[in-house]
Amino acid sequence: MERYALAIHGGAGTIPRTSMTPEREKAYRDALETALRRGHAVLVAGGAALDAVQAAVQMLEDSPHFNAGKGAVFNADGQHEMDASLMNGADLSAGAVAGVQNVKNPVQLARRVMDASGHVLISGLGAFEFAHKQKIPLEDDQYFFDQFRYEQWQETVGTDDYKLDHSADSDADKERKFGTVGAVALDKHGNLAAATSTGGMTNKKWQRIGDSPIIGAGTYANNASCAVSCTGHGESFIRAVAAHDVHALMAYKGLSLQEAVRVVVHEKLPPLDGDGGLIAVDKDGNVVLDFNCSGMYRGHVGADGVLHTAIFR
Ligand code: ASP
Repeated sequence: MERYALAIHGGAGTIPRTSMTPEREKAYRDALETALRRGHAVLVAGGAALDAVQAAVQMLEDSPHFNAGKGAVFNADGQHEMDASLMNGADLSAGAVAGVQNVKNPVQLARRVMDASGHVLISGLGAFEFAHKQKIPLEDDQYFFDQFRYEQWQETVGTDDYKLDHSADSDADKERKFGTVGAVALDKHGNLAAATSTGGMTNKKWQRIGDSPIIGAGTYANNASCAVSCTGHGESFIRAVAAHDVHALMAYKGLSLQEAVRVVVHEKLPPLDGDGGLIAVDKDGNVVLDFNCSGMYRGHVGADGVLHTAIFR
C-alpha cells in the first residue's frame, strides 16, 4: 500500500473547555478538515509534500479562526506583522519571511523566497518589495481585521504587556488565544516537507520575530528523519532549536519519532517556559501530534483518506 501522510495544527495553548461551545468547536474542526482535504488532494494525486503543506497552510491562513494570514493578531501599532516559513526535506531547501504586512498568504511568499530569491529569510519592507515584484497577492489592512483579535489587542494596547497566548493562565476561564498554523507531510515519493505561518503575539513590539520563520526552531524537514512544525512560546522554541532537535534525536541518537517528540515537548521545552506543541511526520508515514498545554487544534490524514481532528487531549 502506498504511504503518504499529512498533519496540520492551528495553534496550541490554554483552551478552557468552558469557552468551547459546540458551534465554535464545529467551526474550528470544519476549518481543519478543509485544510486537510486540500493538502490530501495534492498527495493523492502524487504531488509533492512541499506543495501539500503549502496548500494546507494557505487554507488555514485564509480562515479568520487562526492567528495567521486573515485573522493575524494586532501588534502594538495596531498592525499585522506576519512570519512564515517552509522547508523541503528532499534537498533541505527553505524559504521564510518575517514581519511582513499586507501579504495575503505569507507562506506563499516564503515559497517564492525559496524558489526565486537566492535567500532563505527576508523581512519587513524588503520582503514586501519582493512580494510586490513577484506579483504575490496583497490585501489592505481591512482584510486582516477581526473583531475578536481587535478586542484582544484592546486589553493590552498602551501597556508594555504582550499577549503570548500560550502563557500559563491564572484565570482558568480566560482563553489564551493562539492559532499559529502549520503542516507537515510525507508524499508518495518519500519526500518530507514542513510549513508554519503566524501573526506572532498580540501587542508585540520592536519588530519581534518568533520561532515560526526560523528554520530549525519552528520549522524543519529532512528526508533522513522527519518534518516538524511547532506552535507555542516562540522565544523558548528558538532557544531549544525545537524542530531541529526532533530531527537530531532521531538522526544521531536513533530515537523513534514518537520518542524524539516526547523528549522535546515534555523534557526540553518545559524548563525553558516552552508552552506549546508540535506536529511531526517521519519517513515511514508515522504521525505524532503532541503538546504540553491544555490543547492544540490539530488534525491528520493518511493514505486511507480518513480525516482526524481534535482540540483537547
Ligand atoms: N510560536 C508563535 C510565535 O511565538 C506563536 C504561536 O505559536 O502561536 O510567534
